[in-house]
Amino acid sequence: MTESIGRADGLPVADEAVEAARGLGAAAAGLRHAELVPALRRASELYYQHDAPEISDAEYDQLMRELVAMEAAFPDLVTPDSPSQRVGAEPTGAFGEVVHNRPMLSLGNVFDEDELRAFDARVRRGLSLPAAPAPAPDLRYVAELKIDGLAVSLRYERGRLVQGATRGDGTTGEDVTANLRTISVLPERLREPVTAEVRGEVFMPKAEFARINAEREEAGLPTYANPRNSGAGSLRQQDPRVTAARRLSSWSYQLIEDGPDGRPTVRSQSEALARLAALGLPVNPDRAEGLEIEGVIRFLEEWREERHALPYETDGVVVKVDRFDQQEELGMVARAPRWAIAYKFPPEQVETVLEDIVPYVGRTGTLTPVAHMRPAKVAGSTVARATLHNLDEVRRKDLRIGDWIVLQKAGDVIPEVVRSIPERRTGAERVFEMPATCPVCGTPVVRDEGAVRHYCPNAKCPARLAQEFGHFAGRGGMDIEGAGWAVLEQLLERGLVKKRGDFYRLSVEDLVSLDRFARKSAENLKASIDRSRRRPLARILNALGIPQVGEQTAIDLAAWIAERYPAEGAEPAEWTALVARELPRVPAEAFQEVPGVGAVVGAAIAGYFGAPETAAVLEDLVAAGVVALPPARRVAPGSGAAAGPLAGKTVVVTGTLSGFERAAAEEAIRAAGGHAAGSVSRKTDYVVAGENAGSKLAKAQELGVPILDEDAFRRLLAGDE
Ligand code: NAD
Repeated sequence: MTESIGRADGLPVADEAVEAARGLGAAAAGLRHAELVPALRRASELYYQHDAPEISDAEYDQLMRELVAMEAAFPDLVTPDSPSQRVGAEPTGAFGEVVHNRPMLSLGNVFDEDELRAFDARVRRGLSLPAAPAPAPDLRYVAELKIDGLAVSLRYERGRLVQGATRGDGTTGEDVTANLRTISVLPERLREPVTAEVRGEVFMPKAEFARINAEREEAGLPTYANPRNSGAGSLRQQDPRVTAARRLSSWSYQLIEDGPDGRPTVRSQSEALARLAALGLPVNPDRAEGLEIEGVIRFLEEWREERHALPYETDGVVVKVDRFDQQEELGMVARAPRWAIAYKFPPEQVETVLEDIVPYVGRTGTLTPVAHMRPAKVAGSTVARATLHNLDEVRRKDLRIGDWIVLQKAGDVIPEVVRSIPERRTGAERVFEMPATCPVCGTPVVRDEGAVRHYCPNAKCPARLAQEFGHFAGRGGMDIEGAGWAVLEQLLERGLVKKRGDFYRLSVEDLVSLDRFARKSAENLKASIDRSRRRPLARILNALGIPQVGEQTAIDLAAWIAERYPAEGAEPAEWTALVARELPRVPAEAFQEVPGVGAVVGAAIAGYFGAPETAAVLEDLVAAGVVALPPARRVAPGSGAAAGPLAGKTVVVTGTLSGFERAAAEEAIRAAGGHAAGSVSRKTDYVVAGENAGSKLAKAQELGVPILDEDAFRRLLAGDE
């Protein structure tokens, strides 16, 4: 590639691309430009406002480069509202608006090492430094991983977090303060009482993405395309409880702070990162400072493969001129600074053959078509299977058995078939049809009116039972060590296990009768079954496989049950019985008090506990001696183990507070070491009463529990009282 030219919008663009655009002639370029603008606008809207892109980032970047080249060749095409001139998209109106003190910019992109060297050349020219390879000891870069998340800005006043916003269109963002308060790595209070703006990226860790998508798929909800969209969608929720239930994380990378003399407290990016960390903010340790451009190139080569092992997604490396005085000298243009650039890693996609599509029957009877592929290496591991979700998806992507396909990993975690390659068809490919009957039990398959899923309606279908029992005995459930698939299948086939409680009635003799089971292994399995009799309530709830309830919701549900029925000191065994006795009477709305549970999940939980089969399952488990251990309190009163101004205190929030959403207030109580309870009793230490506080306030008055208003609550959190 030859030298890149700096375009008026700050986006670098290769001379060849500009030449090619010029070759089209003004008329053809104008037509193409008129196609690209609405295409890019629509993509941006879907991406930023709906968190649901239709095209890949690589495709988007390609279209944008074409647009920029077109505008470089024919500058008359540039208008102020061209996508090349704009950052993100306007706020949707669903949240309050926050006008940024300083615009939140985008970054120019480069896609290979030569383009990166061309960036260095532009920087040197801008700073009147000699061209490479001449040394430029005063010019140093900081290389940071580019986090594929959502840019946010946090305002701290006298050390307190007072406001948080998204980038929006760069000038005006959305007020997501309450949601940001639920992100545990972002401190409510800095270690120093300073006033500053902190910018960074909020993201969803890969494991959390996989967990949420698995739950959504099982529940028949559309899955998220990747952690970026899942994270952005989670942060831009109207209900902060939903955000809280999805464990988001964050890295901070920019500090805007003036000292008492009115001058910035730091003079370079490397100092800023150190200061952010000192203030208690999360700063990514995987970065390099004091680099020349060749050092930057080594850094990105190092991370090209390594990044797959990180617990979060990174789509590139951000390279920044370290010194702020040099940054100022270089300045910015429309949408991006001239002193920084984003190098994007090439997308990791491979081509392979779709050898078969096999429908699998899941725990709820759903038939999921699964791609069986010729094994291929992608994003660090070998992949041979990928879920195709449902028949509509197979049709939408036009996948046929025998096709060559493009495979990638969504969020580096979940293998995903992107599309077929019809050009490589030979004519021998076959169209996939869902079977008319369940491949396991032969019951006719059902597809409900308007629904996407096909399912086997037979509740006793061996495939369903095997999945259900596998889930029950598996890691997230009762965790019976040694009860793997081979064992489970035999237990079911021989009728030794017909219902869940039967696991606990198996004798060593029963187990010895299994294929390849010596007495020793039978005894071991029996011992691990016995050990699994006592499990935390949350585990047991998860093991039951309540529709729409995953691991996190099970934990929250258990905590809620323990709070609602504070049977402290009662025998652990009573918990299972208590669940069996009490939960069928709880109305669906009440379950919405559980963090992250809305109307749909609440109804699913109520439906589950209300069903007579559930009562039978629970009674059977009680009879089999299964014991639920009550959830440990987050802070043991008087243990002295917890730190914070509310250590060991139980606090109830009621009514509407002006500066906190309920979930955020409760999170703040927990962060201060306290216990946020849902109901007032003699054990309550404080009741925080906002506007329209009702019966809980009356109860507190009756019991003589100290009542705090919002200001007093804030002082208490700060440890001032
Ligand atoms: P960008 O994502 O290429 O780069 C700018 C952003 O990088 C910053 O706003 C910041 O949020 C982020 N960032 C992450 N780590 C950082 C760090 N360490 N330091 C500084 N910034 C860091 O640019 P953009 O304007 O946010 O978005 C454009 C990109 O979004 C496109 O290149 C494309 O990948 C994607 N996009 C995709 C579609 C689609 O339809 N698929 C549509 C629009 C945008």
